[in-house]
Amino acid sequence: MIPTITLNNGTPIPQLGFGTLKIPPDRAPTPENARKTADVVRLALQIGYRHIDTAQMYGNEMGVGLALAESGIARDEIYITTKLGNAKHRPDDVRHSFDQSMERLDLDHLDLFLMHWPLPTLYDGDFVSTWQAMAGLLGSGKLRSVGVSNFQPAHLDRIVSATGVVPAVNQIEVHPYFRNDAARAASARHGVMIEAWSPLGQGTVLQDSVIAAIARTSGKSVAQVVLRWHIQHGHAIFPKSNHEERMRENLDIFDFALSTGEMARIDALDRGEVGRIGPNPDTFAWIP
Ligand code: NAD
Repeated sequence: MIPTITLNNGTPIPQLGFGTLKIPPDRAPTPENARKTADVVRLALQIGYRHIDTAQMYGNEMGVGLALAESGIARDEIYITTKLGNAKHRPDDVRHSFDQSMERLDLDHLDLFLMHWPLPTLYDGDFVSTWQAMAGLLGSGKLRSVGVSNFQPAHLDRIVSATGVVPAVNQIEVHPYFRNDAARAASARHGVMIEAWSPLGQGTVLQDSVIAAIARTSGKSVAQVVLRWHIQHGHAIFPKSNHEERMRENLDIFDFALSTGEMARIDALDRGEVGRIGPNPDTFAWIP
């Protein structure tokens, strides 16, 4: 039911998955919290999600690992992404923190490991050695694909020209109010698949009257129309919800299609930089 996209290294990725940012409680990896995360993620897996997006900085890898183990679903049927924490950019920390993620997730191999942020104003602006260390993990047999997140065109150009290693994925903020055209175009130019984070703009686009009108004619919800817009643009997405009915709604987007005109009307909602919700990757320098 869920389409797969083939990455530039030949590996398939399910185009729709489940996001875990702020799956409660966030960034506090206690056993009690792991239990709560596991219950939400296990429900998502039961409903049919087969692609889970987590991160070291979400503090919930242990709960995701617990859900995977309890689900009884074969490892090769589930696609797992985690991301390098902002405090772990030094090459030795890359390798060590990857091993720690694998322990928390209780996995013997990971599908995708992303550099969460380029952090160009930290570590003397050096994210190239971080990238080299991440690419070095590909030979370990424990990692299938390596990619980046929040990379602007200049960041992408720099790692590709310095190392020759093209990321499989660039996970960036994209939704109807922030099309993020420059980063999307640079990713496409390098053959890097786009993953759209906050595909629903963290809920901000759900009150939009243009999308609501399209939803009415489609017989679908506003959220489903927005998610369908991403699918037709070729983005991988992983909307997040703690509620079963919304989890189901977000999966149910493959029995209708938006017309070219409807796609264009949603494209036209772009507000440029003003529409950005998250931090600007050119200046973001947060270390938890
Ligand atoms: P999102 O756009 O998925 O929106 C989530 C919000 O929308 C929640 O409040 C949820 O309750 C609501 N929602 C979800 N489905 C709905 C529906 N059908 N109807 C009405 N409301 C609905 O935002 P997000 O969680 O920020 O992004 C998704 C995922 O992207 C995250 O969980 C995370 O995995 C990833 N992410 C990555 C980065 C990064 O820097 N790489 C940053 C932010 C998010």
